[in-house]
Amino acid sequence: MNPISERLAKVRERITLAANACGRNPDGIRLLAVSKTKPPEDIRAAYAAGQRAFGENYLQDAVPKILALDDLDIEWHFIGRLQGNKTDSIARHFAWVHSLEKIKHAQQLDRHRAAQAAPLDICIQLNLSGETSKGGIGPDALPALAAAVAACPRLCLRGLMTLPDPLSPAAAQVAAFEELARLLDRLRADHPQVDTLSIGMSADLEAAIRSGSTLVRIGTDIFGPRA
Ligand SMILES: *Cc1c(COP(=O)(O)O)cnc(C)c1O
Repeated sequence: MNPISERLAKVRERITLAANACGRNPDGIRLLAVSKTKPPEDIRAAYAAGQRAFGENYLQDAVPKILALDDLDIEWHFIGRLQGNKTDSIARHFAWVHSLEKIKHAQQLDRHRAAQAAPLDICIQLNLSGETSKGGIGPDALPALAAAVAACPRLCLRGLMTLPDPLSPAAAQVAAFEELARLLDRLRADHPQVDTLSIGMSADLEAAIRSGSTLVRIGTDIFGPRA
């Protein structure tokens, strides 16, 4: 086993243990391998160990990798900050976007999504820590943005994502996860198909699973520290 396949096995084990510890089925938690800044060889190593879903933040960095790995059956997730002038390329190259925060971007992604491709899966990003530097909308803006996504035929609203403030105490981070889980429950009244709570990174995977995560986004603990 190479180091990436070993670390991947350890992360899968952590997911299973955390799910079992709170009485959840580990099969209900997907693992997204966050490969931002990492070379295509690292992605191939994780793929050879069975990983299929990969997350990227930076479009300019991601597209050459996506093209170089075209021979593999990878599901690409865009998890970085969205910009209007990049929506065309994102709609073309990715299966998921986790970081939607603007109605205008939803409409642009919808317009650019090819008719023959599956609808683009969408998570709306919430900012629950009040950090102004960070992406995401406040809870008050959620109903309108969710309705706008639902009105786009080439998009499929799947759920919600948040990034906890790494500087706030663990209890505050857990509070943000639990608030996101409540918002997802409420969203289900109008959008019964939503099924994705995109929370949990290397440092808070277990806490996120206790709060109901259905998709954890893990970079460092699979690929090692980033430069
Ligand atoms: C980098 C990143 C991750 C992965 O974080 P690690 O701590 O390296 O596991 C997850 N989600 C988003 C949005 C990221 O930018």
